[in-house]
Amino acid sequence: MDKILVIDDSPVQADFLRSILKDDYDITTCQTAHDGLRAAKEETFSLILLDVIMPDMDGFMVLQELKGTELTKSIPVILLTSLADIQYEERGLLLGAVDYVAKPFSPVIIKARVNTHIQLYHYQSQFKQQAMVDDLTGIANRRRYEDVSAARWQEAYRFGLPFSVCMFDIDKFKLYNDTFGHPAGDQVIAAVAKTVSAYFHRATDLFARYGGEEFVAVFIGNTGRSAFEFMKTVRQAVEDLRIPHSASVSQWVTVSIGGVSTVPKAGDSYDTCLKLADTMLYDAKRFGRNRVVWFDENKEHLREK
Ligand code: GH3
Ligand code: MG
Ligand code: MG
Repeated sequence: MDKILVIDDSPVQADFLRSILKDDYDITTCQTAHDGLRAAKEETFSLILLDVIMPDMDGFMVLQELKGTELTKSIPVILLTSLADIQYEERGLLLGAVDYVAKPFSPVIIKARVNTHIQLYHYQSQFKQQAMVDDLTGIANRRRYEDVSAARWQEAYRFGLPFSVCMFDIDKFKLYNDTFGHPAGDQVIAAVAKTVSAYFHRATDLFARYGGEEFVAVFIGNTGRSAFEFMKTVRQAVEDLRIPHSASVSQWVTVSIGGVSTVPKAGDSYDTCLKLADTMLYDAKRFGRNRVVWFDENKEHLREK
């Protein structure tokens, strides 16, 4: 059941709204702007009904704060106005409210507007979700990777943490497609994605499809040595899937991995770091594939095999 937050200083109004909506939604009511803002950040609501006139802080300020906060900015807000506040509608809508309802409330109108906005919110969330996910594998896509990698790089720089990025590329994959067909190749890409993504379970980890048979991972906190060891395990896990391949490298499908760990300093660029990871991947291919090559924070090369 979708959750709706009602922020209204009048318990009578709040109870009335609850009685109208309680059969279809899970209703939480707050009588002050302060409590309402806290609840909005702590729980996940699909809609907020917000009174414009309240003693501690007016609805516009609450609205501004909701829209300016990452956690709450996409929750639709419907303003509750009395006839006397009708001149405020324009202001509310400009501040990002999706709609308003005038007091005295008509239960039919309230229900209809709430239903519509909750449905729109669901479409929007679904659309946002799809825009970030790769269709074939269900993992993060290139767009999501671009956003998250930039944010992680900034975080690592700000907190002085080691930052790691690595590129994965399935070995001799053209040959796999040529031998087993493109649909079978697609299944391999999905299987590799599933296996590898299980290793990236920290909240700050990102594993994404970079394009074609290439993947990228970004994570923070590991030294180069530990990142290298970690990736060796991941590489081995792909080999252990024992997906038959006709290639000369191995009888199984394998991946080559090239990565970099660094503590970002002023003037360092993420692009340079990524290019270096790509060079490490190229080396992994050149040295024989199915291996990990890493460039650590001491500018040492770590090579598997
Ligand atoms: P290497 O070991 O050097 O990486 O050899 P490779 O054959 O994997 O390298 P190359 O980059 O030349 O070929 C990648 C192949 O991956 C080419 C393309 O047919 C295949 N490929 C790219 N995207 C997809 C996809 O979405 N599905 C399938 N089935 N194949 C793909
Ligand atoms: Mg490739
Ligand atoms: Mg390849």
